[in-house]
Amino acid sequence: MERTVLYIIIPCYNEEEVLPLTSPIFLGKLRQLIDEGKISGDSRVMFVDDGSRDGTWQIIRSLAAQDEHFIGIQQSRNRGHQNAVLAGLMEAVDRCDVTISIDCDGQDDVNAMDAMIDAYHDGCEIVYGVRASRETDTFFKRFTAESYYRLLRFMGADVVFNHADYRLMSSRALREFAKFKEVNLFLRGMVPLVGFKSTCVSYDRRERQAGQSHYPLKKMLKLAFDGITSLSVKPIRMITVTGLIIFFLSLIGIVWSVITALCGRAVPGWASTACIVFLMGGLQALFMGVIGEYIGKIYLEAKGRPRYIISDRTEDRPPEE
Ligand code: UDP
Ligand code: MG
Repeated sequence: MERTVLYIIIPCYNEEEVLPLTSPIFLGKLRQLIDEGKISGDSRVMFVDDGSRDGTWQIIRSLAAQDEHFIGIQQSRNRGHQNAVLAGLMEAVDRCDVTISIDCDGQDDVNAMDAMIDAYHDGCEIVYGVRASRETDTFFKRFTAESYYRLLRFMGADVVFNHADYRLMSSRALREFAKFKEVNLFLRGMVPLVGFKSTCVSYDRRERQAGQSHYPLKKMLKLAFDGITSLSVKPIRMITVTGLIIFFLSLIGIVWSVITALCGRAVPGWASTACIVFLMGGLQALFMGVIGEYIGKIYLEAKGRPRYIISDRTEDRPPEE
């Protein structure tokens, strides 16, 4: 147990105001866990500078110079929160036994890490940090966030309610996760696909300690859209179903226009024109859906996700893989 090496992965983008406030909190937590013998002294707090334009990287460098438990990596340019977290996780995977990703702004309560590590020692490979309440959010953010989780569920994506990117992942789960080669990242939707024994730990999310949110509405909408389109081909399925419905309605329309013409209640030329319009509209909608089905398949193939992940074996196998 004492040998468990923990890496805390913290993405930072233009956070010079917040880092001096929160870095001691992360270090304090790491020290406490080391002192309690829950993790090894080789554990680290790893900052990922996501191409910041302010003094964030200088702060990370000086932190690393001050204490060996602080380390940092810098991305060559700003790639966004999800990619920064991934960069940190992949950098850490071969150096540690377990990672915890957390935002650097102090919103996520570090005290939930104790329960996360305990759950890991109980055999969980993934532990999701779940917000106990959304009281600190504005009504707008709470409403949009909750509707969004419902929408994702409806689309067939298996997301954990009120979980963002505060989570523990073992290096074993990470190695399997690394096989998900897709470029559009929506980590909170992809991680559950890895499987393994997992659990949730709830925590209170606070206000940002300093600085500003980097998730304005525009970025939030982009993440939300990425979430749906990278987890589900259901929108395409909806086009197919709509196409089918329109096609059948158009058949009814054709019958109706022919009957109207035969009864002599239509001006000459109307029935034939109406039939063509109905037929073309219906066929086009149907064909779009069929093409969409193939595009959906190509999309899933292109992502090259692993087709299976083995969690246990009755016989020992050398871990070379
Ligand atoms: N972040 C990042 N790259 C970005 C935007 C944000 O690494 O392009 C980091 C940021 O430094 C913070 C975390 O992602 O640690 C969450 O961002 P933020 O607090 O701004 O979002 P919010 O909590 O308001 O949703
Ligand atoms: Mg934040």
